[in-house]
Amino acid sequence: MSCIEGKVILITGASSGFGMVTAKKCVEHGAKVVLGARREDRLSELCNSLGNENAIFKVTDVTNKQNVNDLAKYGIDTFGQIDSLVNNAGIMPLSFIEQGRTDEWDSMIDVNIKGVLYAIDSVYTHMMERGSGQIINISSVAGKRLIPGSAVYSGTKFAVGAISEGLRIESDGKLQVTCIFPGAFETELGASIKDEAMLEYLATQAQYVNLAQPAEIIADAILYALEQKPGVAANEIVLRPTAQDF
Ligand code: NDP
Repeated sequence: MSCIEGKVILITGASSGFGMVTAKKCVEHGAKVVLGARREDRLSELCNSLGNENAIFKVTDVTNKQNVNDLAKYGIDTFGQIDSLVNNAGIMPLSFIEQGRTDEWDSMIDVNIKGVLYAIDSVYTHMMERGSGQIINISSVAGKRLIPGSAVYSGTKFAVGAISEGLRIESDGKLQVTCIFPGAFETELGASIKDEAMLEYLATQAQYVNLAQPAEIIADAILYALEQKPGVAANEIVLRPTAQDF
């Protein structure tokens, strides 16, 4: 029997990429999933394919605190509890500081930091009162080191690492906290880069081309964290393609 069978797992950013693949794998292993993102058509299709008795969704913008609280409440009302949070929603509109794309900086801070905090807040009391819970935050190798153009994105992902460690030390040994730091994997994330100078730079740097590995690999790492038995947690997981030197 899988250790995640019967768990209720809330996943943000479940409409594509890591979140979507993780949702599928969780249900395959007998879990129930509560899915949030902004694209209703994607979430609806995913839940239909997984079976509406196993997978439910609510259109959620993680920058909206009420939306996030409503998502968690919907999960608890439907399935009775939230055992695990996969705090995954994120955007990566890389750009050089000199371009001054301050609206994108604001969005990254809102989604990648505030969204992560709102999701933690939406389940924290529930989990602490139950005396257990798992929170898996998705940072990035950009949360360990920088490349040109990643100053703000990296800032948000360093923050996710710090928030994870703070959560671990403050949760009285009750929560299993994991922070995952992926390298380059095949998802829709790159589509959020709009800065022409950044796109030209990435296209001309051989070390950034054809690196990405399948998203399933990160979903499997998330499952590994979810499968840890109470009393232990995989605190940090760094996974990058071997060809990636940053
Ligand atoms: P995708 O772009 O495929 O998925 C991102 C998800 O986040 C989508 O489901 C999107 O849904 C959701 N999202 C974005 N903004 C919001 C919002 N405001 N409210 C709710 N959901 C939102 O990329 P990935 O799967 O790659 O990204 C998942 C996480 O992994 C991110 O945190 C990313 O930073 C991180 N990561 C990815 C790496 C990679 O190589 N792919 C490397 C390192 C880290 P919707 O648009 O429907 O709202």
